[in-house]
Order: sequence, then structure tokens, then C-alpha cells
Amino acid sequence: MTEAQNEPSVTIEALMDEQRVFPPSKEFVAQANINAASVYEDGKDYETFWENQADSLLWRKKWTKTLDWSNPPFAKWFVDGKLNVTESCLDRHLENNGDKVAYYFVGEPGDERTVTYRQLYEEVCQLANGLASLGVSKGDRVAIYMGMTVELPVALLACARLGAPHSVVFGGFSSDALMDRINDAEAKVLITCDESWRNGNKIALKSYADSALEKTPSIEHVVVVKRTGTAVPMIQGRDIYYHELIKDQPKERPATETDSEDTLFILYTSGTTGKPKGIVHTTGGYLLGASFTHKNVFDIKDDDVYWCTADIGWVTGHSYIVYGPLANGTTSVLYEGVPNYPDKDRYWAIIEKYKVNQLYTAPTSIRTFMKWGTEFPERHDMSSLRLIGTVGEPINPEAWIWYNKYIGGGRAPIVDTWWQTETGHIMISPLPGVTTTKPGSATVPLPGIGADIVDEEGNPVPWGGGGYLVLTHPWPGMLRTIFKDPQRFVDTYWGRFSKPEENRWVYFAGDGAKRDVDGYYWLLGRVDDVMNVSGHRISTLEVESALVDHQDVAEAAVVGRNDPITGQAIAAFVTLKGHVQGNEQLIAELREHVAAKIGKIARPASIVFTDELPKTRSGKIMRRLLRDISEQRQLGDVTTLANADVVNDIAARAAAMQTSQED
Ligand code: ATP
Ligand code: MG
Repeated sequence: MTEAQNEPSVTIEALMDEQRVFPPSKEFVAQANINAASVYEDGKDYETFWENQADSLLWRKKWTKTLDWSNPPFAKWFVDGKLNVTESCLDRHLENNGDKVAYYFVGEPGDERTVTYRQLYEEVCQLANGLASLGVSKGDRVAIYMGMTVELPVALLACARLGAPHSVVFGGFSSDALMDRINDAEAKVLITCDESWRNGNKIALKSYADSALEKTPSIEHVVVVKRTGTAVPMIQGRDIYYHELIKDQPKERPATETDSEDTLFILYTSGTTGKPKGIVHTTGGYLLGASFTHKNVFDIKDDDVYWCTADIGWVTGHSYIVYGPLANGTTSVLYEGVPNYPDKDRYWAIIEKYKVNQLYTAPTSIRTFMKWGTEFPERHDMSSLRLIGTVGEPINPEAWIWYNKYIGGGRAPIVDTWWQTETGHIMISPLPGVTTTKPGSATVPLPGIGADIVDEEGNPVPWGGGGYLVLTHPWPGMLRTIFKDPQRFVDTYWGRFSKPEENRWVYFAGDGAKRDVDGYYWLLGRVDDVMNVSGHRISTLEVESALVDHQDVAEAAVVGRNDPITGQAIAAFVTLKGHVQGNEQLIAELREHVAAKIGKIARPASIVFTDELPKTRSGKIMRRLLRDISEQRQLGDVTTLANADVVNDIAARAAAMQTSQED
């Protein structure tokens, strides 16, 4: 069938043409955990593939069936299997690796603590005993609202030890956000800190928690970790200090047996596109997906030191600071603070000191490092880095090249990992010993994962085109439902492209992507953000990347705003590098740069310079607010916005800049 006979409906244009390729080096391939492309063949029979991996976990009772997909979209993996995830993450390492370091904790003020697997095990058991003494038992939900200290992974694991689902609420959220999440999960206990350190400041977590707790009837007890030592009000009978709770508790506690399909945790999405959803993950499949991908995407060896800079409040921290690395017996760095405290080289100093081998961070950080300049990484010896990764947003090709050069030393492969809170673990990513990478592409679905790009009708888009990214079959770490709202789960993720009458179930991720002629996936951002200019559907990412390609630009966000002539006009918001000043001439230059790079149609109608872009607390650009600003509307939900004050500033600048796309 040729295109002329049956023209596929245009979904998203593919404008950018990035040609640089980076094949893995011979040396890397020779030592890689996976270095044969045949693994992708093995992954085609995905049930067998995942079943074959599952012996890597410690099971109490083997499953009777790998996958039950008889009631789609509700999946069950490793049916009837029994385990407790903490036995895979802790107990089984004690005999041979009890003295191995689990975490090198680095506090923001400079304090450090080294925690071995045995110490971690003992503290988890003590806290599990303590929580049990407060009445927590299997199935009860525990909310966790903390800074990044050792007690945070301990808290997750202590809940898991008891079979009590945890719901971690990022420590940067407000009282109201905490209250909503506690109430939605109906949590029985809250674990928090007196205060946490952030950018040299003390963040009053207990005080925020106290405000939230005025309206959370389900909470019976509050456990308070002493981090800064500031005295905080403690309510008699309700509140207890962590150190007092665990002090006399035994350092052993038998793990509660859970079913492979019991809930391990609930986690609310980061709210980039709207109201957060309570994503439910279970035990066996999730742990398998997290540990398999951790080991093989990051090419983890027994004596590696690995560092994921995410906060445990996000899924990245759950899967790639806690569950994946611990299941693999890995040594991780756990850093409490921000990258610019006390100076803008903090990350690089940590890498040098601990001889970090793998670094996993976010494009938002990389673009910030670009803005700060190369002098900071250049202060340090980072030759220990063997591999570097990114997650959270599409990475602009120029940011990728910068990361490769200044952080990876041109030597360390980059793994750009696409996944979501909902998917539980990495889905599309290079295997560093197999895959040739391309800057800006997450490359191809991992073995055992099925993806596709489809048009409006759900038909696959031929290679070379853009459309909607979908996942075509179940995977072990998939979300099982939205907490207390199974209908929303079905509608949100499975409603758009599934054909139940044909028993065809397709998961829609909400992201746009294109696939090039080699079958590589290039994420294009949220489909809700796609712009429609004179009938062309243009992705935000491609225009942003064309802007970031300019030598003076560090970061850019574009949105489509209503335009009487072209439908939508492209409004751009640009952050410049270091000390560059924005002016009319630079605006003209940037517009021409975009035109030259990806085409005249994508040339922004307006460009506003700003020192910062509105971001979620997880660091993602919130384009929906920029759209509100550009169309001079009341701002939508701002509760997950990290930097509220920049929005007013941008609004004032934008108001002065309303021109048409055709000007
Ligand atoms: P909400 O769903 O509430 O709007 P969110 O989608 O930002 O919040 P997360 O689950 O943390 O919450 O983010 C997943 C999303 O992040 C993906 O759907 C995708 O848009 C983006 N993303 C993550 N990794 C990548 C990547 N490597 N390349 C491109 N986009 C990515
Ligand atoms: Mg999402």
C-alpha cells in the first residue's frame, strides 16, 4: 500500500533531522552486561522473556502463571507468586555482602554517613517493628513526607517489610498538596522530618505537615525524624520521634509475606499536565522490571558506585535509588541537596570524591549546568564516570552533546531513558553495550517491551513519521490501576486506542513521538502541547531544540497561542546562557535560526526572554501555564508549580509581545 492510495492522517510533523550517531566503543561492548543484539529477538516472546528473568528475585513461593491478561486492562504478573520485596533488597545480601555499602549518604551541609547492607537491614527491621507497634499492618497505607536522608529509603522499606503500601509525597510540596494525597490514600501513619535542608535553608516539614494534619482524619500517628534538630511541636499521643520509636526495637523482623499482586506503593504523578493521579504499583512484576532495567541499562557491576540524583519523592527515586539498586546489591550515592550548594560544582565534587561510575539525572539539570557554564565541571576529575543517563523530559540534541562532552568526557555512553510513573521502570532506552545512540533519541523499546507510534485512528505510522506513542502489550512494572478509581484508569490510559471488540488493548502514554527510518524513537513532548500552525501539527520539542541549538540559548519553551490567521501562533520563551543579553536583534536572529534549522513554518511569532521557565517541582517545564499566559487567561492549577513568582514576571513581558505568526 503506497501513501498515495491511503494517506495516513497527519498527526505530528517530523521536522528535525539529527544525523549524528554514537556507536558504543569496543571496550564498552566487551565488558557490557548485555552486548548481543539477539536479546531483542528473545524479548519478542515477552512472557517467556520476563519469566526467564524472574529467578533474579527471591521468591517464597513460585508463581503458577507468568501473566494473567484475561481481564484487560487489569493485568496480573507472576500469579500466586509470594515474596516480600525487602528479602530481595536486603536479606539475601547479608551473607556475602553484609558489609558492602548500600548508601554513601551526603548531606547538603557536608555531613556524611556510610550505610552497609547489614546496617540498612537492621534499621529497616527496627522501624518496621516500631511501625507495627503503632498499629501498622499489612494493607495499611503510610504517607511519607521527608527530605533526602537515609531514613527515607528506610521508611519505604520498613513499610514494604510489613506489606503496608507507602505513599511518598515529595518534600517540596505544600501542606495542601500533602493533605490531598494523605486523604486520597487514607493513610494511617505519616513519617516526616523536623526540617530538611534545601539550598542552605531549613525547610519546615513538620510545620507544613501539622497544617495538613488539621484536615486528615485518617492519620493516627506521626513519626518525626530529627534532621536539623530544631525543636518542633510534638502532639502527645500522636507524634513520636523516629529515634525514640526505634531505639529499643529488635534488629530483626520477619518479613510479612505478600502476594505478587499486593500493592507495594501508591505514587501520585508529578502533575505536569493536570491533577495528579494515584498510581498503584504491585510487588513481583515491579521489582523485576526495576531491577532488570537498573542492571542492564546502567550496566551495573558489583563494585560500581552509582548515583541517581532524583528525589525519592518521584518514581525515579523509587525505582532507581531504592528498589532497583538494592535488589541488585548496588552501592549508591544518596545526596540530600541542590546542585549549587555551596557552589555550582557540588555534583562534580561528589563524583570526584566517591569515584561515581554511573550518573542518572534530568535534562532540566543539564540545561541549568549549560547555563552556568563549563568552568564548574572542569574543576573536577570525573574520569570515574563510565555511563551517564537522563530521564524526565526529552533532551534537546545540543544538551545531549554538552552532557556527552563536559560530563561524560566524550567517553561515557548516554542512556536517554523514556518512562513514566505509570510504567514503573524504563521502557525505551539504549542498551549501552548494544545500541548506537543518536542525540535526542531515546532509541528503541527495551527487550520485552512493545511500543508503536500510531495516528488518530490508532493505525501504525510508517517509519519516518510522527504520532502518538503507545505501548502494545503488558509489561511487568505496569501500573495496575488508579487508586480508588479503576474507571479513570481504563479511560485515561486504555480508552483512546484500544479496540475491546477485537480484544486489542493499547496503552496510551500521552506523549507524541516520531520514529526515524532506522526505527529510532524521538520523544516530542505531550500531545496536549502539540501546536497547530496553518494546519501543520508541530511539536514543542522540535522548535525548542532548534532554539537551544543556537549558541546563546540554554533553555526554551514554546507553546501555541490562538491566532486569527494561522490557527495558532508559536510563542517562545527563552533563557539565555550566562551573561548574554536579550535584545531585538537576537530575537530576529533566533527566529531565523529556527527557520534555517527546521523550516519557516516553525519560526516563533514572538520570543520572550526570561531568567527562568515555570517548572513543576520535579523540574519539568509547565507549558500549559505558558499557554494561559500567552492567551491572557486565568492560570490553571498551579499547586505543582515550583517557582510561582516567575510566572507573573513572564506574563508582564509576554503581554508586550503579541504579534501574529505571519508577521
Ligand atoms: P502528569 O502525568 O501528572 O502530568 P508527569 O507526566 O510529568 O505528570 P511523570 O510520570 O513523572 O509525571 O513523567 C512522565 C513523563 O515525563 C512522560 O510521559 C514524558 O512526557 C516525560 N519523559 C520522561 N522521560 C522522558 C524521556 N527520556 N524523553 C522524553 N520525555 C520523557
Ligand atoms: Mg504523565
